[in-house]
Amino acid sequence: MSLQFISKLLIGLTTAGLLIMNTASANANSVTVSLEEEEKAAAEQQWTLPHPVVLIDVGHGGIDGGTSQGDILEKDINLAIARKLYVLLRSEGIPAVMNRTGDYALSAENRWHHSRSRHFKDLTQRRQLSEEIDSRLFISLHVNWGRNRSARGPVVLHQPTGESALLAFCLQNALNRQQNSNKLPIMGDAFYLLKKVEQPAVIVEMGFISNPVDVNMLTSSAGQLQVAKAIVSGIRQYQWVAQ
Ligand SMILES: [Zn+2]
Repeated sequence: MSLQFISKLLIGLTTAGLLIMNTASANANSVTVSLEEEEKAAAEQQWTLPHPVVLIDVGHGGIDGGTSQGDILEKDINLAIARKLYVLLRSEGIPAVMNRTGDYALSAENRWHHSRSRHFKDLTQRRQLSEEIDSRLFISLHVNWGRNRSARGPVVLHQPTGESALLAFCLQNALNRQQNSNKLPIMGDAFYLLKKVEQPAVIVEMGFISNPVDVNMLTSSAGQLQVAKAIVSGIRQYQWVAQ
C-alpha cells in the first residue's frame, strides 16, 4: 500500500473510532435506557457513521496500462475521472474512497497471494481491499476498446443480483443521458471482481478509447467532469430508489 493510501485509511478509521467513543460515552450516561434500547440506538448510530459509501475501484495502473490508443492509456483516464468522482461524491456528502490514488500497480502491493500471475494478483488485491474497506457500493472504472472505430458510448456490467442490476441501470441511464446513447446494462458474471466482491458491484466502461469523439471526452478535463457528474447522478438515483 502507498503511504498516501494508508494515511487516508487511518484518517477514516480515526474519525469513525472517535465517533464510536462519543456514542459509547453518551450511552453510558443514560442509565435508565434498557439494554435492548441501547443496542437499537447503537445500530442506528452505526448507520449514521461516515464510513465510505462508495469504493471507487480505479482500473489498471503502473505496469498495467489497460487499453490504449496511441500514447493515451486507459489507466490515466480511469485515475483522472476517479479523482473527479471522489471529490464530487464527497462534496455531495457521499463518503468515498479510492483503491488507487496514483500511477502504480495494485499487483505490486499484493505480497500475500501465491499466484505468479500479475493480473490475478491485481484482481485479488482489489477484492481483498473491497473486504477490508467498509463500503456499500463497489464501482470499477474502465475504458472500452473496439475494433470498429464507430463503436462508442458507456456500458455498465453488473452482478446477478437485484441491487447490482439496479445500480447498473441507474448508472447506465445517467451516462446514456450524458453521452446521448441508448445502451442497456449487461450481465458481467464472468468477470472475477463481479463474481467475488460481496457488496453490490458494477464495472463502468465509461466510453471507447478507439472512438474519436469518446476519446476527446475521456481525455479533456471538461469531458471527464461530465462523466464523473453522470456517475454521481446515477449513484444518487440508486440511493433514492434503493432506500
Ligand atoms: Zn480496463
